[in-house]
Amino acid sequence: MPKTFLKSCKVWILDILFPNRCPFCNEIIRWDKSVCEDCEHGLDIACEQICHKCGNYNCSCNDDNCYDNAFAALFFDDEKVSNAVYDFKRTGMSNLAEYTSEIVGKYLEKADLVVGVPMGKRKKRNRGHNQAEILAKCIGERLDTAVGKNILYKIDTKEEQHHFSEEERKERVKSLFYGSDTDLSGKTIILCDDVMTTGATINRCAELLKEMGAKKVIVCVCAVTKLYKSQREG
Ligand SMILES: [Zn+2]
Ligand SMILES: [Zn+2]
Repeated sequence: MPKTFLKSCKVWILDILFPNRCPFCNEIIRWDKSVCEDCEHGLDIACEQICHKCGNYNCSCNDDNCYDNAFAALFFDDEKVSNAVYDFKRTGMSNLAEYTSEIVGKYLEKADLVVGVPMGKRKKRNRGHNQAEILAKCIGERLDTAVGKNILYKIDTKEEQHHFSEEERKERVKSLFYGSDTDLSGKTIILCDDVMTTGATINRCAELLKEMGAKKVIVCVCAVTKLYKSQREG
């Protein structure tokens, strides 16, 4: 427990200098909390409503999915949640990741390694953090599982993915991500990202992990889009 105790001391001291805030409403919260009570009871928990195979609200399981299970804590369509995700991307403040790991942690089985969806090196250097890796660290701590470093890589690009259609995304992600020569034979991997929209990025990363030998890939995200799949039909 001393590690936990030291961590608590650090958080407590930091809290005096920088008060801890709820990622969803910005209210000041106790130093050892990751969310305020109102938000904790008011948020729509996605894990209870989505398909645990494909991770979607409207199940869209198909043979193209390279991952075996997917768990999302919240719905990105809720403005409180999407704002919290954007703040998390920008600041790297870990409360959203802590809260996500608490919700999703109940559904996750013990794995061999936790891996975050990679960010281009230049982008990570400019931003100072990769939010997917922050979530991976929180999940790793909660499950007492090692966090994998330098497993997957991403090439730096100028254009953001959301300017492209789903088909274009699928084609593009193939060339954007690549794996290392790490041998993952027989291993169960938890793959983390902040948001899942079309799932193209996550699926490509899962595909690479499988190519590296992984037996099972379990996806874990802070939020998933609820309306996306049904909107797409229209
Ligand atoms: Zn709140
Ligand atoms: Zn499904």
